[in-house]
Amino acid sequence: MRLSYSSINTYETCPAKFQFQYEDRVPGRPSPALSFGDSLHQALHWFHNRPVPVAPALEELHEALDAVWVSEGYADESEEQMYRDHGRQVLTQYHVENAPGYRIPAAMEFRFSIEVEAVQLNGVIDRMDRIPGGGYEIVDYKTNRRLPPQAQIDRDLQLSMYFLAAKEVWGIEPERLTLYYLLPGQRMTTTRTAADADQLRRRIAVVAERIAAGRFEPQQNPLCNWCDYQRLCPLFRHKYEKEQGDPAPRMTQLVDEWISLKRGGRRVYRRLDELAGDINAFCEEHGYRRLFGTDGGAIDRRPQHVSAPDEEKLRAILQPLGLWEQVLSVDPAKINQLIESRKLPPDVEDAVLASREEVRTQHALYLKEPARTRR
Ligand code: SF4
Repeated sequence: MRLSYSSINTYETCPAKFQFQYEDRVPGRPSPALSFGDSLHQALHWFHNRPVPVAPALEELHEALDAVWVSEGYADESEEQMYRDHGRQVLTQYHVENAPGYRIPAAMEFRFSIEVEAVQLNGVIDRMDRIPGGGYEIVDYKTNRRLPPQAQIDRDLQLSMYFLAAKEVWGIEPERLTLYYLLPGQRMTTTRTAADADQLRRRIAVVAERIAAGRFEPQQNPLCNWCDYQRLCPLFRHKYEKEQGDPAPRMTQLVDEWISLKRGGRRVYRRLDELAGDINAFCEEHGYRRLFGTDGGAIDRRPQHVSAPDEEKLRAILQPLGLWEQVLSVDPAKINQLIESRKLPPDVEDAVLASREEVRTQHALYLKEPARTRR
């Protein structure tokens, strides 16, 4: 099996998208973001690819951007020009920050292929620099607008992978791993340890096992609105099919009825809550336990004690009596969360599923109110 940072990241974000993109090889659409990122990467490769430690002039860098510019995916010429102007601004800022201390990198656009847990892991390291005074720094360019929190950089899959690759290919453990966010012109740096590399190996093994077992469930995520595969996705396909001519109009009637009843139910529960407030206040004031309606039906008001056990205190009381085990129970909701996290190896997931007394899958229906999605 061959995997890369992008494919693993795609699988972990949504296994169904991985299937469409990497298994079925359904081509995605070109986009301004992809072309813009590609153009900047190539221009920066040109900037750093010099035989002498002297930075090229800014005008030359702008010319290089024009030479490598990728025109695909833009809606029209004016959009493309807007991106091109922005690209020039970004490179101007990059030149100001990087030309003065210009040094020849130790490696650039380095393609690696290493074997990890029987998986061939491929990738390209944008740049590796020698740190003055000793050690190495891996740098990867990003064209995201916003900086992520540092905690995200400290867990970043791509940087972990590059750390592992540097260890395997060059036998070095880079001291610094940096994502260079070109748009805000900021670097975010982190480190990794040998223990992180071991954790990454296990993570790759789980993804590979799940792919080999054909686990490709769709997973709704914040990037769904930009996904090229909505028309194929089980979560969105029906909407597109309906636009082409409803494949099952009778079923659409039933769906409409279900949604209407569900919304009505919500209204009812909201009103019940409102009424409960007034009824409780009235009973409290006048000392009633029961209020009668006009046909003999009544509202019975019963006290309910809401409490949360303090686990430590309870354990201290019950454990010496040998009763602690009797109040412990496995939480089915937490087991479901564990399964739905899709982070278990497939055989472990199957074993957890099979360990339940009743082995069956049932589907609950939830109402999802319309949201804006990209076509
Ligand atoms: S639309 Fe969302 S859930 Fe469907 S394949 Fe794309 S990313 Fe996955």
